[in-house]
Amino acid sequence: MSFNGKVVVVTGASSGIGAATAIHFSNLGASVVLTGRNSENLQAVAKQCNEERTKFVVADLNKDEDANTIVAFTLNAFGKLDILVNNAGILEMGTIETSDVNQYDRIMNTNMRAIYHLTTVAVPHLIETKGNIVNVSSVNGIRAFPGVLAYCISKSALDQFTRCIALELAPKQVRVNSVNPGLIITDIHKRSGMSEEQYKAFVERAKTTHALGRPGKPEEVATTIAFLAGDGASNITGATLPVDGGRHAMCPR
Ligand code: NAD
Repeated sequence: MSFNGKVVVVTGASSGIGAATAIHFSNLGASVVLTGRNSENLQAVAKQCNEERTKFVVADLNKDEDANTIVAFTLNAFGKLDILVNNAGILEMGTIETSDVNQYDRIMNTNMRAIYHLTTVAVPHLIETKGNIVNVSSVNGIRAFPGVLAYCISKSALDQFTRCIALELAPKQVRVNSVNPGLIITDIHKRSGMSEEQYKAFVERAKTTHALGRPGKPEEVATTIAFLAGDGASNITGATLPVDGGRHAMCPR
């Protein structure tokens, strides 16, 4: 698989799945724009990519104007945009009894509204290149889990966004798909407030909650994102593809 001559934007590229995705696309020959909020972390990931074909831009997706900054930066750096990976996201714990509408707003703003907005800015350029979009959703988008209510809602909304805009953009030959990871080892859970001990137990439990008997690695999501973005997936659009060791197919028994 080669992405020679392709220009890819990866949001949330300073850590976890986004970092692995940026590095993977770079290894496959793409020019990559990494974006995130932390300059030092972005720089550290950029160093693991091809020097000539990699740029990074600091942007906060919760600021509307930063979406324009990301797209303008990309066009200025590489002249076009072929692939948008909407990866940045946040997780917070909370049930209908313990969360409030402020948590709902924080999660929906980052996991859905910011993606909606950045995509509207990027789409005219993706139409020009007949490019494509890969959204990073979650198994929480396709299955219900207690204790992460707003997060589940945000990822379900993202899956519907994927399907709807896939239909809207198909006549223009722009494909739109999502990956739906299960538990992947990154910092997102600890960032959401899980203690080391709770996280250790959560990862241990993944041996039984994921059919393949283990959590996943960011690189396994990155390779699936690249597959969906590549010519090998030229007849795939509107798909929500689990990368979850079979978790979505399991039932309690
Ligand atoms: P992560 O915390 O390492 O990555 C999320 C990235 O998004 C971070 O770099 C963070 O700084 C960035 N981000 C958050 N808010 C932002 C904002 N307002 N502006 C710019 N950047 C922002 O965790 P990750 O696991 O790599 O998460 C990446 C994506 O994968 C998320 O959308 C997450 O929901 C999804 N996901 C993760 C898992 C998992 O188990 N790790 C499972 C399913 C889905």
